[in-house]
Amino acid sequence: MDNRPKIIVNLDKIYKNVSEVIKTLNKYNVDITAVTKMHGANVHIVDTLYKAGIKRFGDSRIENLMNIKYDDAEKWLIRLPSISRVSDTVKYSTCSLISQKETAFALNEECIKQNKEYECILMADIGDLREGCFEREDLLDTAGYINSLSNIKLKGIGTNLTCYGGVLPSEENLTYLVSLKDMIEEELNIKLEVVSGGNSTSYTLFRENRAVDGITNLRIGDTLYLGRDCTYRKHIDTMIKDAFILEAEIIEIKDKPSIPIGNRGMSALNTKAEFVDRGIRKRAVLSVGKQDIDMDIFPLDEDMILLGGSSDHLIVDITDSKDKDSFKIGDSISFYMYYTSIMRGFTSKYITKEFINE
Ligand SMILES: *Cc1c(COP(=O)(O)O)cnc(C)c1O
Repeated sequence: MDNRPKIIVNLDKIYKNVSEVIKTLNKYNVDITAVTKMHGANVHIVDTLYKAGIKRFGDSRIENLMNIKYDDAEKWLIRLPSISRVSDTVKYSTCSLISQKETAFALNEECIKQNKEYECILMADIGDLREGCFEREDLLDTAGYINSLSNIKLKGIGTNLTCYGGVLPSEENLTYLVSLKDMIEEELNIKLEVVSGGNSTSYTLFRENRAVDGITNLRIGDTLYLGRDCTYRKHIDTMIKDAFILEAEIIEIKDKPSIPIGNRGMSALNTKAEFVDRGIRKRAVLSVGKQDIDMDIFPLDEDMILLGGSSDHLIVDITDSKDKDSFKIGDSISFYMYYTSIMRGFTSKYITKEFINE
């Protein structure tokens, strides 16, 4: 039987997680743009999100947005559009996050060509220093410019946090974001529908009853799928962490020392590995590697230790596993997965995907 490495996605578990986040944010009248880039907007997962009540989807890649077919759903391009691709942007998304007048102009010209109305969220940089207008004058000036365009509606403003600078959302910086929206509304005498207050890390504030008045939307990926609090980097008790399971096949089992023998340089992929001396250990080598996943995977058998990997191999210490003597070459070992591994796994053509319900 073909036993290539496989990701098994439990759609019911995702449904439950999404429902919980929707319920929590509903209390504060905050809606969700479900971010789908981790799984390349996989149609089964998108369908699950939609059934749970999601009506706004966001992805950084146009190729992924093309998979989302619901007529009554908004499709946000959450990476600033590239001017060279405005045609597909207007064709396959309904809204973009934006920070440059040049891009707004190009989008508007394209909208006129395609005879379409389009929406934009103007990005404000409130400290994380990735995308967005940093100066108030720049923000106001860009807002005024977008507002003057014939086919583009300024739907609101947004910000991004904890991406480049690692700056966490707080009552202070999100209140500042809301004040920027008030300023634009007042100066331009318009109403903005959306204040998009960040990603999964912003969800922490709402979960902890520290909601910021005036935030109307969050763009969430990670927490929806993995039940993880991204601020504290830990599992949320009421949510499910193992909706994505990796299964990989054992291609070697041997007893070996814990510390490599010989003078040591760099390992594969420019890493310098650390080793703990546990003596002679029983180790399994698996046929999957960093080309397909990363090291943020966790054996379901908690007595196993993931020792490391290279581009095509994983090494797992199975000495302490109750099953260590029953494993055979050709068997599989299972792990639950976090963000980087799932993201790579979904773009890897070497990994099969299977979708199950409970
Ligand atoms: C990826 C991304 C998100 C979602 O981040 P999560 O950590 O998965 O919640 C939100 N906004 C933007 C602009 C992004 O690029």
